[in-house]
Amino acid sequence: MARIAVMRSHQPMRPEILFPAFAPVASLPGVGPRIAKLIEKIAGPRLVDLYWHLPIQIVDRRHSPPVANAPEGAIVTMTVVVERHLPAPDKRLPYKVLCRDDSALLTLVFFRARPDYLERALPVGEERVVSGRIQRYRDEIQIAHPDHIGTVEELDALKIVEPVYPLTAGLTARPLRRAVRSALDKAPDLPEWLEPRFLSRRRWPGWKDALLAAHAPESPDRLKPDHPARERLAYDELMANQLALALVRESVREGAGRAVSGDGSLRTRTLASLPYSLTGAQERALKEICDDMASPARMLRLLQGDVGSGKTIVAFLAMLNAVECGAQAALMAPTEILARQHRDVLAPLCVGLGIRLVLLTGREKGESRRRTLANLRAGEIDILVGTHAIFQEGVAFGDLAFAVIDEQHRFGVHQRLALTAKAAGARANLLVMTATPIPRTLTMTAYGDMDVSRLDEKPPGRTPVDTRAMPLDRLDEVVQAVRRAVAGGDRVYWVCPLVEESDVVDAAAAEERHAALAGSLGGGVALLHGRMKSAEKDARMNGFAAGEVSVLVATTVIEVGVDIPEATVMVVEHAERFGLAQLHQLRGRVGRGDRRGRCLLLYAAPLGDAARARIRIMRETDDGFRIAEEDLRLRGAGEVLGTRQSGLPDFRLADVAAHEELMLAARDDARLALERDPDLSSDRGRALRVLLYLFERDAAVGYLRSG
Ligand code: ADP
Ligand code: MG
Repeated sequence: MARIAVMRSHQPMRPEILFPAFAPVASLPGVGPRIAKLIEKIAGPRLVDLYWHLPIQIVDRRHSPPVANAPEGAIVTMTVVVERHLPAPDKRLPYKVLCRDDSALLTLVFFRARPDYLERALPVGEERVVSGRIQRYRDEIQIAHPDHIGTVEELDALKIVEPVYPLTAGLTARPLRRAVRSALDKAPDLPEWLEPRFLSRRRWPGWKDALLAAHAPESPDRLKPDHPARERLAYDELMANQLALALVRESVREGAGRAVSGDGSLRTRTLASLPYSLTGAQERALKEICDDMASPARMLRLLQGDVGSGKTIVAFLAMLNAVECGAQAALMAPTEILARQHRDVLAPLCVGLGIRLVLLTGREKGESRRRTLANLRAGEIDILVGTHAIFQEGVAFGDLAFAVIDEQHRFGVHQRLALTAKAAGARANLLVMTATPIPRTLTMTAYGDMDVSRLDEKPPGRTPVDTRAMPLDRLDEVVQAVRRAVAGGDRVYWVCPLVEESDVVDAAAAEERHAALAGSLGGGVALLHGRMKSAEKDARMNGFAAGEVSVLVATTVIEVGVDIPEATVMVVEHAERFGLAQLHQLRGRVGRGDRRGRCLLLYAAPLGDAARARIRIMRETDDGFRIAEEDLRLRGAGEVLGTRQSGLPDFRLADVAAHEELMLAARDDARLALERDPDLSSDRGRALRVLLYLFERDAAVGYLRSG
């Protein structure tokens, strides 16, 4: 009996050398609770979060021309004598302070000023250093709200290049900069985890020097991703990622695998009963999977296929391979809706084959759950379908030979590692499936060096979904069109971006939309969102699938996997708020049957450049790979689109578009390091452990034989 349990029992613990780096931001001098909260919002709660919060620009304050020569718009730092204060005659007008040097008069301008502060900071008759942006206004030379005011002794400290950090509302540059500087003062000296020869070939500094340099850019080119300090930090992050993935992979691979090779009887009968034949891509993928299962090494394979490419049936046929051997198979889905849907699709096929398929989710409780668990242990269940509940404690298979994780990108990166390890604990062959059509190198950041099968062909007879975009102010027309569609027998998804998100006032709440549509379309409109009880969600979903409801107003809970072939129209409200990957997934929900699908992207005008580009791409193509590439390109242009949806790890330092070469190097480096030192017990190995903790891959350390 193979019992599923966490592979290693010890809890990995962060080494002491990193304690300072993980101290709370609020422990820094001069950072009170208010500032700490704002810093947490923009960067994170601990000092490391400030380390990874790199500057995006610089302000060069080294320029000190005479006042008369100071050019319009320039940032300057000048020494002047304060001549006179001109308090504001009324609240709407500024307080002015007149100063001069040998060449000309300089007017400092303050709106809504505090006179007592200004009198102290700029005493009449004294010399002061001021730094800020020059404005020439008629014949006056001005600085409005100087960034710095100091004494002459402070001149050198002010004539510097300042880093500019991303900010958030309420947080100004100065306190953040000060916090970063004191965080850096506490940065620990860490042992070098990179090979000396590799370091010198790359001309990279050590970790701490790289960190300090990345926060002290002296010219704009030092902000670029190919600057040595930035490259070094990005590489460290990628290396931690690749090392963690390699450790999981090793722990999955190690130990006795098992050869699983059935006689094909169940598969042949199933294929004969299907109303369609497999596509070439499905046949190829199935063969790759079954060949891999037949080998004695444990399988760890990714099945990648765009939405609607038919992954489910491939997974089912591979599960039958295990059942033909008298063993068990499991299929795990990220949501309850999806798990139930898999059960509904696959159970009838099983009935015909005389095998037993059972559903297990968090909702099965009491007697029915006890019975399922007992049957599972006794080997009386052939296929278990469920949510992550199927890998929970107390769930034991009689003989699990094959586990499939569907839409795996919906599980978080950490969760995913844990699930993989648990499935592997049962010594089962493992297949993970994803609809994210990401390029090979990117798959690597999410899955490490896995074997990959691809469904690069869709079942025949699908016509592309007719995709249109329309501004939200033509909502009335859209409602009319939906009314006509429903009258003609269509079933419509209407997707709203957020529910009750209080800080996004103008977000179309699904509830409101539901009420409005129900008002104008009458009955047959249902609501579905993530906060509902799952029984309620099922009921709504079933009603829609059965045709009792023709319009389903939903949040993105329907984004993945849901397969209702009768659904033909997809309306996405506030399409401009969705990432490309997400829009593609949503659109993939319609046009699955023989009726042509339609997709309406409703947007709030005016559209920003990136949103406009996303909508254009959606109209141009339904090729998931092209969409993924465009997504990456747009993201490279500085916009983060749907990283979460795509299941890619959120890198803080590495830029997956710009640092592709570094990622390949990190993969090789990680693999080699583990080949030479599988327990990470050499000097370098121990340093690499620190690296894993630094990037919070603590769980990965748990996979080492001696943590
Ligand atoms: P996904 O890859 O998005 O999970 P599904 O497995 O849900 O896709 O398949 C989408 C739809 O295509 C299902 O209704 C399925 O029955 C159908 N399908 C799968 N393979 C084929 C095929 N070879 N020919 C025709 N229809 C197919
Ligand atoms: Mg699917």
